[in-house]
Amino acid sequence: MDQLIPFDIGSSTEDVLEVVRRYWGFDELRPLQHDAIRAGMDQRDSLVVLPTGGGKSLCYQVPPLLTGRTDIVVSPLISLMKDQVDGLRTNGYPAAALHSGLDPQNRSEAEDFIASGDCRLVFVSPERLVTPWFLNTVEKLGVSTFAVDEAHCISHWGHDFRPEYRQLAVLKERVPGASIHAYTATATERVRDDICAQLALVDPTVLVGNFDRPNLLYRLVPRLDLRGQVREVLHRHENEAVIIYCISRKETERLAGHLQDEGHQAAYYHAGMDAAPRRQTQERFANEELDVIVATVAFGMGIDRSNVRCVVHIATPKSIEHYQQETGRAGRDGLEAECVLLHSPADTMRWQTLMERSAAEGDGGGLAGSLALLDEIRRYCAPGKCRHQALVEHFGQAYDAPGDAGCGACDVCLGETEGLVEATKDAQMILSCVARLQQSYGMGHVADVLRGAKTERIRSLAHDELSTYGLMEGKAQKQIMNLIFQLLDQELLTRSPGEYPVLLLNDASLEVMRGERTVHLVPAKAQRVRKSSRDSASWEGVDMELFERLRGLRTELARERDVPPYLIFGDASLRDMAASKPSNETEFLAVHGVGEKKLKDLGEVFLAAIASHGD
Ligand code: ADP
Ligand code: ZN
Repeated sequence: MDQLIPFDIGSSTEDVLEVVRRYWGFDELRPLQHDAIRAGMDQRDSLVVLPTGGGKSLCYQVPPLLTGRTDIVVSPLISLMKDQVDGLRTNGYPAAALHSGLDPQNRSEAEDFIASGDCRLVFVSPERLVTPWFLNTVEKLGVSTFAVDEAHCISHWGHDFRPEYRQLAVLKERVPGASIHAYTATATERVRDDICAQLALVDPTVLVGNFDRPNLLYRLVPRLDLRGQVREVLHRHENEAVIIYCISRKETERLAGHLQDEGHQAAYYHAGMDAAPRRQTQERFANEELDVIVATVAFGMGIDRSNVRCVVHIATPKSIEHYQQETGRAGRDGLEAECVLLHSPADTMRWQTLMERSAAEGDGGGLAGSLALLDEIRRYCAPGKCRHQALVEHFGQAYDAPGDAGCGACDVCLGETEGLVEATKDAQMILSCVARLQQSYGMGHVADVLRGAKTERIRSLAHDELSTYGLMEGKAQKQIMNLIFQLLDQELLTRSPGEYPVLLLNDASLEVMRGERTVHLVPAKAQRVRKSSRDSASWEGVDMELFERLRGLRTELARERDVPPYLIFGDASLRDMAASKPSNETEFLAVHGVGEKKLKDLGEVFLAAIASHGD
């Protein structure tokens, strides 16, 4: 294959940076990448915990380049391996993968390449790793460094246990003296300990990264009008990649159908689909032929589209771990992205029922544990603390706010939840008024009493003597009615059937009145959030028209070469080009994500497009 000309390199920090610049076009390493790469070079066992998008792969990709070794990466999914190998090759990095998806011709090519010793990184599934051919090759080449990607798959306590991973327990025995480097995004202590024990790591260097994802904007919004709210979010992310997570398969199909009816190009995805359409949908999303995907959590590992600009949950997930994992798929390119969670108290009740049912059927048995996790996310949904802070603290880390105004990237710090504290008070006033009126009156009258109206009816009933009379003085009747409707929607209040319905209290009303429950109400005129992600700072100086043009060029080239567009260039690179407008090779090389191979391959055509722009 077409490789970069080898060059003399040592192993100093400068040498590491040189390689990273040459092959990846990055100017610096992220904090833990240094230490993780060092452990790989020195062959010290290690466990590296970094959130999704944190840059784990670079940590095992760099050492074999510098040392001239052949290293092995164990990976759980064919699609993950394929994407990584394709990406590495477009950077001129000699890599190969061995998996069951190869035809005989490709397999024998890959095997020859590996046996030649020129291949720096071999991706392999755990089953294949322990085959005689492979272990034999490992011995012949003197391979002694193994990276285990998605290492939590080895643990029962992880959210994604894979029995095949258990076979890795024999690695230390089979390859004496080998070093093992485990990588995961799962942060719980139990999983961490389990990984070290299962892989028999010896005195491992444990590196745990910062779990905050500062480029993600978290917005937790009470679900009042699902379709309208989803529409509004999609409006903010026109022509951008959005994943919408639903709990059930049926919901994905229904919502995707509605969105299509409204003219959106959207598709659904869940585990109940046949393999072919399922793969096709995933590929169309990866190839940027499809932007909106409505999915269950089955749409997860293996999505390598790094420019997902928004992840929407239309209901509360069952734990903060799930939430973090799923929102982690947004903004992997480090650029701003939004995470919207539309929640309702009904969601946690629904999960509880599901959990109780599956416990009764003898599945798992960890009911108390699941319910505790559910309770955590329920509390997370209430407005209070900064979302970034709460998430990071959940994973046992301290949060350092970047400024006085908090994180600057969540609904709480942006002041979007202001008024919700009043909302609970408003709800309490309305509900106590319903109670004072003996649950015998309709909405209009309740609203009149609350605003202190001086009507004949109120006087004749002596309702102006009630303690709740005039409690919401200053508000219009319509405004109060709007709040009452919202309480009805959220089932915090009910109505009798019939022609003249009266307002009735239920158990939830009592919880609110006792202060055991926070209420979310939106002002009659919902405040608009930032119109589009394109208003954000990372777009500063970017020539939008040029960006779109380069994006078109990227799609064209991707199609010609039959690779996903992000393998040509990520959005960060395109934005950088559209801002700095390089006019020669040296300037092009300075663009984020441009290494020597990409300069050679793509420099000319992109430079030409930039030069002709604005002519
Ligand atoms: P993970 O495997 O931890 O989810 P990846 O290895 O896929 O994360 O990296 C996420 C993104 O960050 C990729 O687009 C990658 O190219 C980019 N990246 C990694 N390291 C750096 C770096 N030092 N500088 C700039 N971008 C980086
Ligand atoms: Zn915040």
